[in-house]
Amino acid sequence: MAGRAVLEQGIARRIGDGADTKILGWNWLADVSNKPLITPCVEELRHATVKGLLNEHGRWDGDILRDIFHTDDIPRILATPVNAHLKDCWRWPEDLRGRYTVQNGYRLLARERLQPAVETEFHAWKALWTLLTPPKVKNFLWRCARGVLSVRDNLRLKRVWIGEGCPICGYVTESMAHLFCECDFAKQLWENEDVLQGRELLAFMDHILGSQLALIFWTIWQARNDVVCNSMTPSVSKSQHLMSQLRDAWRVAYSQSRSTLDKPRIREQWTPPPAGSLKCNVDTAIFEDGAGFGLVVRDHVGCFVATKKGQLDGERDPFVAEALAAKEALTWLKEQNLNNIIIESDCLNFCKTFNS
Ligand SMILES: [Zn+2]
Repeated sequence: MAGRAVLEQGIARRIGDGADTKILGWNWLADVSNKPLITPCVEELRHATVKGLLNEHGRWDGDILRDIFHTDDIPRILATPVNAHLKDCWRWPEDLRGRYTVQNGYRLLARERLQPAVETEFHAWKALWTLLTPPKVKNFLWRCARGVLSVRDNLRLKRVWIGEGCPICGYVTESMAHLFCECDFAKQLWENEDVLQGRELLAFMDHILGSQLALIFWTIWQARNDVVCNSMTPSVSKSQHLMSQLRDAWRVAYSQSRSTLDKPRIREQWTPPPAGSLKCNVDTAIFEDGAGFGLVVRDHVGCFVATKKGQLDGERDPFVAEALAAKEALTWLKEQNLNNIIIESDCLNFCKTFNS
């Protein structure tokens, strides 16, 4: 019962025939954002179910939607998959199969607590993961950016007591901002008296993240850990020496791997299916107002057999679009009485999910 509030916060309906899902007050749109409908509540709709919005073929009825809903809601409804052969049921939107696990619930709660502080200040995640540094340094910077590095201020919040104050200069607290920017030791490595210039640490990191910052932060962290764990005396000249060694080592190691990464990748070649079978390639493209799909069937010598294209109204989610396109392909191939067919898609996520 204690977990019920979490379930209610994240749960949504999967629409089958629409008979067991109320239009208002329930989450049933496929939208990733999972926001409720914009259309205001009207008395006639209070007890109506989603079934009333489908036509006799079990698809969304455009006329009814235009009569009832706010124009911004209509594409979101059209983009929601329906399957009139199934009953409505509950699903967990963040899981590809719609299943709830304790881990999913935990993520929802953790995101609520962790994100606001981080999201407002640090955005340079892509720059962080592409830095030319060893993975352990990226991981270390990631912990800095999330504000979870084990400096004494953070440890105290977790009720871990390993003494107080800056281990290098003895200042009253050891925060990340002090250790990496405000401590005298840090200022000497930066060769700058006012490193932060009035900014918060995360805003500062966001602004200047690069090899230089990685090098200085990492060197300070090594020196600090030598003091805390090995009772060594911090030395600016020793750290400066370490910095120049690391700078050279990273340059040698990562400029090489970068140049191999930059080499043009070998293009995937289309391969024909075995004799006696056909292959149907499926692909989708996302546009402003929805998605389009194309299907091409070829035989074992690569000769064209059949093709089809179509629209997926309102669909903006690439993964869902790919799944709907594959569903259209299967329906179409069945109608054509084509058998023994390999379906091929370039959406790895979809293929993995489908095959499992
Ligand atoms: Zn200090």
